[in-house]
Amino acid sequence: MAAKRRPLIAGNWKMNGLKKDARALAGALGTRLKKLKTKPGFDMLVCPPAPLIGPVVDATKGTGLAVGGQDCHMAASGAHTGDVSAKLLKSMGCKFVIVGHSERRTDHAETDKMVKAKAEAALAAGLKVIVCIGETLKERKAGQTLNVNRRQLRGSLPDGATAANTVIAYEPVWAIGTGEVATPEQAQDVHAAIRKALKGKLGAAEADKMRILYGGSMKPGNAAELLAQPDIDGGLIGGAALTVKDFWGIAEAV
Ligand code: PEP
Repeated sequence: MAAKRRPLIAGNWKMNGLKKDARALAGALGTRLKKLKTKPGFDMLVCPPAPLIGPVVDATKGTGLAVGGQDCHMAASGAHTGDVSAKLLKSMGCKFVIVGHSERRTDHAETDKMVKAKAEAALAAGLKVIVCIGETLKERKAGQTLNVNRRQLRGSLPDGATAANTVIAYEPVWAIGTGEVATPEQAQDVHAAIRKALKGKLGAAEADKMRILYGGSMKPGNAAELLAQPDIDGGLIGGAALTVKDFWGIAEAV
């Protein structure tokens, strides 16, 4: 982490939790945030399943805990049964939306082009966007890690991206939900390459300010080491975002 970038600790709840669990988890996190004696030196975000966004926004009002969506459609509205627009997320009280998570890329065949269009819809709606990229184990073993991440970044970064409206999440697919975490060095190497690529695209000033999160089996026990790396500016957290103890434990590592 570098002092010039404010860390972001973001929880991706995926398809977990029911209404009462969501209220309890988000409410407890919000209360902790609010009770901190000094202003926290990090931003905290939770991204519940879409139907739980309303209850979570209600349970966290005035606490400083931000709420986000896990995905949005690329169109502003229309005949897209089951989908959620960025504008709707915004109107519900969301501040962020995740796009291009590897589970969306795999389960819903999302391409870089689609991810870019979704990210642009999010920006147009006034949301901040978290753009996920990351290589598979096969790609890593083939020595393609940096190429794959650079290609996904190039293809998925929205037009109009700035450090204020866009966050990148590097999530090696082999580390997501597997308990197998990238070493701090492996993660830092990719984060540094992403920042270099951002410099080429957005200029040094913007790239230096843009947050790049690590995601993939981050836990309280490994967070400090990862977050100590100069280009790791926070975490996108799945499993460990589902309990107050673990998620708060990661925030404490900041
Ligand atoms: C994720 O889904 O974004 C993620 C990083 O999951 P986990 O922390 O469970 O590996």
